[in-house]
Amino acid sequence: LLLSADAYAFSLRSGLGCPDSAALINSTTGHRLLYSEFALRSKTLAAYLQTVIGLSKGDTAFVLSSNLIQVPILYFSLLSLGVIISPANPINTQSEISRLIELCKPVIAFSISTAAHKLPSLHHRTVIIDSFEFDSMMTGPIRELVPVEVSQSDLAAIMYSSGTTGRVKGVMLTHRNLIAMTASIHEGQSVRSSPDVLLYTVPFFHMIGFFYCVKSVALNETVVVMERFDLRRMLTLVEKFKVTHMAVVPPVLVAMAKGDATDNNDLTSLESVSCGGAPLGKDLCQAFTAKFPNVAIRQGYGLTESSGAVSRLLDPEECRHWGSVGRLTGIFEAKIVDPDTGLALPPCKQGELWVRGPAVMKGYVGDRKATRETLVSDGWLRTGDLCYIDGEGFLYVVDRLKELIKYKGYQVAPAELEHLLQSHPEIVDAAVIPYPDEEAGEVPMAYVVRRPQSSLNEAQVMDFIAKQVAAYKKIRRVLFVSSIPKSPAGKILRKELRKLAVPGSLSKL
Ligand code: ATP
Repeated sequence: LLLSADAYAFSLRSGLGCPDSAALINSTTGHRLLYSEFALRSKTLAAYLQTVIGLSKGDTAFVLSSNLIQVPILYFSLLSLGVIISPANPINTQSEISRLIELCKPVIAFSISTAAHKLPSLHHRTVIIDSFEFDSMMTGPIRELVPVEVSQSDLAAIMYSSGTTGRVKGVMLTHRNLIAMTASIHEGQSVRSSPDVLLYTVPFFHMIGFFYCVKSVALNETVVVMERFDLRRMLTLVEKFKVTHMAVVPPVLVAMAKGDATDNNDLTSLESVSCGGAPLGKDLCQAFTAKFPNVAIRQGYGLTESSGAVSRLLDPEECRHWGSVGRLTGIFEAKIVDPDTGLALPPCKQGELWVRGPAVMKGYVGDRKATRETLVSDGWLRTGDLCYIDGEGFLYVVDRLKELIKYKGYQVAPAELEHLLQSHPEIVDAAVIPYPDEEAGEVPMAYVVRRPQSSLNEAQVMDFIAKQVAAYKKIRRVLFVSSIPKSPAGKILRKELRKLAVPGSLSKL
């Protein structure tokens, strides 16, 4: 099924879809906002933004917010006006926010009250999302909306990549990208008699959370909106609102699999948990399934530049391929190439994954050079990930090319060592980075979070790994820490760890 631009740009305009079912549930108050009300609020807000504030097609709106119930409503009013949404993390610093604003050049900013002071006082207007003023824009007098022709090739959003490997980039996505992605998700879902109830712990400003907002409304699902992640509260909400699906990042899955907080709640409504954005080890999947045998793990792999999932591991049958990130979704073509020559490699060989299809970004805003380097010939997107595809079409992500550790000419993938470390019963979390070494160039160094009261020591950790890997992959240094720094998408912030690992600085830790 391919949704037409009109169908996507909405049931909202017409108030069709499932008017009597809940679009959003405010987890704090328990209030259910029906689709009919959602459509009315988005439309009222769109008319206000158009007629009073003067927003028009092609303008950019910067959105700085946590997961509030107002955010999906705002997104849909902006999409229907053809205004480009540029959402960012409110915990960014003032200088980070200034850089994002320089990139996307918004005419208006929508911010939560606690972050508004970080916005540079430029010419754009600022609207506080959690304010009485914003509420009245959504619920006030209904104004006449002049319909806007939004075509699939128009820009819908500028999303920021996580900045894991360098400077944050503004990824330009079109309406076609979002429609294609929504259609590809729809393809993988079974038809149900009642709407799915979803709970997202992923932030609405990140690619995964942003896209989930869009697709949940387009597919008339019910979303339980939880402003801040808290494991116990999340599980209470699953029980209270009979949540059927959750979208989480890997640390949440780890906490569910390894923690004991899950024992007090009735989670029988929960059918599946989608997880992506960072690697998920086989042992973690097994530990999760042993604890929650009736909850399927749906793993996804993708990039901001691909508008989200390029591949998915969906079916419980596919669990024998754990460790893989599943098969390509129907909307992508892929090839594995030699990253140096760009030449395609034979099946099952490791190389860089290149993908193309209707969900591939238009480019990076304000950065032609980076766009040329990433979007290469014939629409292929270079993922920067070292991958292979097995004989049955399952994709395996070995690691990011930029993060491989170069030990005496060998390449060591941190992700492989991290998965092994995480399988140790006394290890809660771990990260591996290169540590400079005169003789070898770089050696693998591990940051390890032990279980409370564990007496695990450095030698035991090194020995545990040494028994399982070739000599060149051995971990040569271990540091015990209380937590591993992670991005909102669950990615290890290796840049932070690298700062700590500068030679000579270890004694300071
Ligand atoms: P930047 O490009 O600014 O460095 P980033 O690449 O981290 O940031 P994202 O678009 O959020 O920004 O992340 C995409 C990357 O996340 C992929 O290229 C891949 O390396 C990693 N990734 C996503 N999903 C998975 C997964 N299921 N397993 C392993 N890695 C994953």
